[in-house]
Amino acid sequence: MSDKSYGFDTLQIHAGSRPDPTTGARQTPIYQNTAYVFRDTDHAAALFNLQEVGYIYSRLTNPTVSVLQERIAALEGGVGGVGTSSGHAAQIMALFALMRPGDNIVASTRLYGGTVTQFSHTIRRFGWSATFVDTDDLEAVEAAADDRTRAIFCESIANPGGYVSDIPALAKVAERLQVPLIVDNTSATPWLCRPIEMGATLVVHSTTKYLSGNGTSVGGAIIDSGRFDWTAAGKFPALTEPEPAYHGLKFHETFGPMAFTFHGIAIGLRDLGMTMAPMSAFQTLLGIETLSLRMERHVRNAEKIAAWLEADPRVTEVTYAGLPSSPWYERAKRLYPKGAGALFTFGVRGGYEACTRLVNSVEIFSHVVNLGDTRSIINHPASTTHRQLTPEQQEAAGAGPDTVRLSIGIEDADDLIRDLDQALAKATA
Ligand SMILES: *Cc1c(COP(=O)(O)O)cnc(C)c1O
Repeated sequence: MSDKSYGFDTLQIHAGSRPDPTTGARQTPIYQNTAYVFRDTDHAAALFNLQEVGYIYSRLTNPTVSVLQERIAALEGGVGGVGTSSGHAAQIMALFALMRPGDNIVASTRLYGGTVTQFSHTIRRFGWSATFVDTDDLEAVEAAADDRTRAIFCESIANPGGYVSDIPALAKVAERLQVPLIVDNTSATPWLCRPIEMGATLVVHSTTKYLSGNGTSVGGAIIDSGRFDWTAAGKFPALTEPEPAYHGLKFHETFGPMAFTFHGIAIGLRDLGMTMAPMSAFQTLLGIETLSLRMERHVRNAEKIAAWLEADPRVTEVTYAGLPSSPWYERAKRLYPKGAGALFTFGVRGGYEACTRLVNSVEIFSHVVNLGDTRSIINHPASTTHRQLTPEQQEAAGAGPDTVRLSIGIEDADDLIRDLDQALAKATA
């Protein structure tokens, strides 16, 4: 489907998909297939030279994954996308095109715990590093950058506290620094937030969460706005300098706005192999068909439950940006008018012990570290996802010892409230 002006509900069902040309199958088939027959040796040569776009081998491209890439790109308003084996793979793949040993990124302190770990420790093995700053302090963001900075990284609605980023303001800083702003849009989804419209260069997703929505498939995606001038910035040689493995081809010069996407597939997936499986792409496509319907219910339930918790004396605080008491309420209303997501934390009187009793007492909520599932989820970051962080990092991430995180599902809100009520009674008895 070429028309990008269709509405969100139409795109989430149709973008990227067409009836199967040989069978007429209407739903996107699962091309559970490794390799693709070349018409002849010239065809093979053209594909290998990137002179023609087509299918060679499923580590690089697969028809089911291609539909998903196109669909998410359409929903995000980007020019292209790269599917990856997980959300964490998407982050590494996004940085891979931008970074050389010695380069750094400026990252928000308010990130998914696994991302803090990936950026604090693992990327150092590649000679990369991250400087963490409070991204609400724009001067601190700018001050943290130096001549080896290659990106600013934040989450639109940040895990676990439901904090919301001022993407337009960060995009201006990134523009001044001539580096891309990368936004992890996992918790907001393009239904609540379209970072590219607010000036972001790249959007990364863990499709594992709301996009698939059904808790079946781990996956990720990187979407490119196509707007960053890699050549003018002069610090992204992988995208602008001759690529020896493709006879000296220059990605930006050859592919223009599609440079990042082509590099992600032709170099990133080819050599790092963080490829999404066709079955995962299929499951994710099924989920995306109902994304807007689910997000609407996720948000409505979250608003109701957050307000109920806030009024409860057993609860010390609720961080939901959809509540007028939140310091981010005005920003959320301005930038995320459809709602502040369905992910937030609350404090329980009685600290660490009460939190663990609460988690052990729920009946509908599942104690898992996932989020964005149709099922409601509870977890205690300090003993799980944020366990590897220092106490200071835990506090900065909004994941202190007395904090419980909820990912509100699409069940009956009243049932969820009753479940929390009985569990709070046991936790604080
Ligand atoms: C889950 C998650 C990730 C990591 O994604 P995986 O698919 O688990 O690798 C990254 N960012 C956010 C915000 C997440 O919720």
